[in-house]
Amino acid sequence: MPVLVMKFGGTSVATLDRIRRAAKRVGVEVAKGYDVIVIVSAMSGKTNELVGWVNETSPLYDAREYDAVVSSGENVTAGLMALTLQEMDVPARSWQGWQVPVRTTSAHSAARIEEIPADNIMAKFAEGMKVAVVSGFQGVSPEGRITTLGRGGSDTTAVAFAAAFEAERCDIYTDVDGVYTTDPRVSPKARKLEKIAFEEMLELASLGAKVLQTRSVELAMRYKVRLRVLSSFEEQSDNAGTLVCDEEDIMESNVVAGVAFSRDESKMTLVSVADRPGIAASIFTALSEGGVNVDMIVQNISEEGRTDMTWSCPTDQVARAEKAVADAKAQGVINFHEVIADTDVAKVSVVGIGMRSHTGVAAKMFQVLSAEGINIKVITTSEIKISVLIDRKYMELAVQALHDAFELEKAA
Ligand code: ASP
Ligand code: MG
Repeated sequence: MPVLVMKFGGTSVATLDRIRRAAKRVGVEVAKGYDVIVIVSAMSGKTNELVGWVNETSPLYDAREYDAVVSSGENVTAGLMALTLQEMDVPARSWQGWQVPVRTTSAHSAARIEEIPADNIMAKFAEGMKVAVVSGFQGVSPEGRITTLGRGGSDTTAVAFAAAFEAERCDIYTDVDGVYTTDPRVSPKARKLEKIAFEEMLELASLGAKVLQTRSVELAMRYKVRLRVLSSFEEQSDNAGTLVCDEEDIMESNVVAGVAFSRDESKMTLVSVADRPGIAASIFTALSEGGVNVDMIVQNISEEGRTDMTWSCPTDQVARAEKAVADAKAQGVINFHEVIADTDVAKVSVVGIGMRSHTGVAAKMFQVLSAEGINIKVITTSEIKISVLIDRKYMELAVQALHDAFELEKAA
């Protein structure tokens, strides 16, 4: 029998009634002849509640116990989903991560999947079981402890199962009906994409589009898993969702596929740093050891032998970054005149594989922003994306203007 993976996110299993609706969709696929692996998230809000309980009990918690607590939400929905399917006369049972087993690294709260042996579940399918309901987001370490894969990790569980079982497709059921050219709450002209290439989706996910966990897209790209994002709330017929696939499977696409944004960014500058080998290494080592996730980096000559070093990071890490560079200065590792933090910025990016073969995208993006009177503070580019930092108050305007200028409301 061909295998299908169906993943239901937190809002799709938020109540018993929603679990019943999800189970009906599973029943439809079983009736078509698939053996189905269902991956479930915890009921929406549950994981946040569990994380809160851990923090309240033990602020400097043991990460192994954090995982023991936080992974439990998925076990509840897995059991309830299996029971619901059984009530519909669909042969189903639940599996927690360790029972499969989903083998992961020991990096608690951010573990990576290393291996998913297919034999246990396949043996049950051979005996007539039709649906294996697996708790998403969790696995077991080499030491035999429960691990979790990082927030949003059940997307990654789903893709990893699709790869391990050579599933025909991996359907991700969520509360939106697909991947959009931008967030419809920001631009009402946002359009649902029929298809998007893995690489574009990877950029959009890491630039702040929240539909899929970045890691899951990486895995899908590596193992060429056909991923479909669709809504569990809409009726099946007009609900094809968005297919995330290889770029060869997309005949026509716009040069720019989407506009992404991330609101809570900050720009920090170390003014007047000595311009000599090893200085950048010292600064960014200090930041990384201080737990700061640096995104963009720009270096500028300010005066003879001195340079300004600018970077961006999430706003809630600014205090940590300030401490890291102040400590490094106190230890004599680096030297600078002052540190300036601009905490009112946002990042806006345009993404598209068409940029590899089309010139002028950057020029057009900058013209659009200038026509709106928006000042660009930092620019970075990769082969398929251009990102700028701008004042946060212009973020919506920038997204709308770029969406209009690149005519993203029209399909290719
Ligand atoms: N329940 C977990 C979370 O909220 C995992 C997931 O739903 O993907 O992060
Ligand atoms: Mg999610």
